[in-house]
Amino acid sequence: MNFTVKNTTFRSVLDIIYPCYCRGCGKFGEAFCLRCYNYNKALNPPFSRVLLPDFHKLFVCGLREGVLSDLVSEYKFHSRRQYAPVLASMMADLAFGLSSDMIIVPLPTIRRHIRSRGFDHIFLLCSELAQLTGFSVVPLLSRKRETVQVGKSSKIRRFQAREAFSLNLEAISGYFGRSSLSFSDFLKPILIVDDVWTTGASMKSASFILRSFGFQKVYGAVLAKNDGYEFS
Ligand SMILES: [Zn+2]
Repeated sequence: MNFTVKNTTFRSVLDIIYPCYCRGCGKFGEAFCLRCYNYNKALNPPFSRVLLPDFHKLFVCGLREGVLSDLVSEYKFHSRRQYAPVLASMMADLAFGLSSDMIIVPLPTIRRHIRSRGFDHIFLLCSELAQLTGFSVVPLLSRKRETVQVGKSSKIRRFQAREAFSLNLEAISGYFGRSSLSFSDFLKPILIVDDVWTTGASMKSASFILRSFGFQKVYGAVLAKNDGYEFS
């Protein structure tokens, strides 16, 4: 079962509501033109890290600075849905080369934020990523605690993250066609997706739950990382 949402018509309507100007240079026609896309990639290059035991590999589109930070903030805090395809393209560049049976797992968004934004920005990002890569989006995780992490200290974030997520058993049995998974099911590569890596507490917590359930290959991808290239 593939949870990807086709939203071509919906996007056409949005293009009328939100005229498309490049966020980088102001040129009319695209949310982020190819020239600015390549320029940003050269100035703020993507990077990846093997981050054991939490992730086989963690992919990052760039540091949270300059136009990438601007795109992410506009998308996340000002409901600029039209940036979803370009942000997903940045992520697809990172994930390219990974196994074709990859399962994209959106980090569950706080429901109150979905209501205020009018859409689930992580799920939309994942849906766009699925269209570009052919991977499946399967919400293997649910949010069981609706806590806000913005502005909290890293210690509090880690504490909250431990309790934030749980397995979505319905989605697991729906995707695999059974509630009891086989060894080969557990070898399917998982890609957990979030927008920004701050302390990494939420991403690490999500990875821990999926690895504890038995998944052997858990990768991560985020659009941007705060505070430099190093991971704690
Ligand atoms: Zn441009």
